[in-house]
Amino acid sequence: MSARINIAIDGFSSCGKSTLAKQLARHLGYTYIDSGAMYRAVALYVLQEGLVKDGKLMKDALLDRLDDIHIRFAHDPDTGRSVTLLNGRNVEKEIRGMDVSRHVTLVSPVPEVRAKLVKLQQALGEEKGVVMDGRDIGTVVFPQAAVKLYMTARPEVRARRRYDELKSKGVEVDYASVLDNIERRDEDDTKRAADPLIKAPTAVEIDNSDISQEEQFRLALAVVERVLGKEVASR
Ligand code: C5P
Repeated sequence: MSARINIAIDGFSSCGKSTLAKQLARHLGYTYIDSGAMYRAVALYVLQEGLVKDGKLMKDALLDRLDDIHIRFAHDPDTGRSVTLLNGRNVEKEIRGMDVSRHVTLVSPVPEVRAKLVKLQQALGEEKGVVMDGRDIGTVVFPQAAVKLYMTARPEVRARRRYDELKSKGVEVDYASVLDNIERRDEDDTKRAADPLIKAPTAVEIDNSDISQEEQFRLALAVVERVLGKEVASR
């Protein structure tokens, strides 16, 4: 049996990280963990608790309540999928909406929020056999990850995919606001002081603007298999 490793997938918003992460996890029998869902759950919490006033986060109030925010994942027997629970409530659908997308970069730069979520993410990866996607997985959460992938795609391509996905789920959106949100989050995520999105030195970059999901999967799997082959050989 081959060694189990952790696989870190980082990249810009809506560039297919979760699709690839799920494909790899399924293929390898690993667990997929969506770290963005955790930041989205915190954003939903601040919106529901009225901690955003005139578009600004009431940071001190959030910090006071940080210990009251409990996020975990559970298996939904109806859909067979993993769902995000915020204080015991299934918030999977709510955290994917545009309102949360527009407000998530209010909470993701807050160092205390990051520290809390990174700790949770690291605990989930302790046993290895995890594929996790996000912005700082290869740099901060699992700096020792055996495989690091860094994904990019042109903003217009990402916006079109995200728009199609939201539409297929029955969400009312227009393409321009999806593109605007993606560009804003790219800017916020790469420029923030705490754990910005950067390519880890050993990460393999995949630009999927012009390749199919199957091609992308083959490329990524080749990287994983190369590393797994080496891990087995060195044991
Ligand atoms: O991956 P997703 O687009 O769902 O992430 C939502 C937001 O959560 C990102 O725009 C980013 O601000 C934040 N995030 C983060 N670090 C991660 C994952 C997500 O800051 N590891």
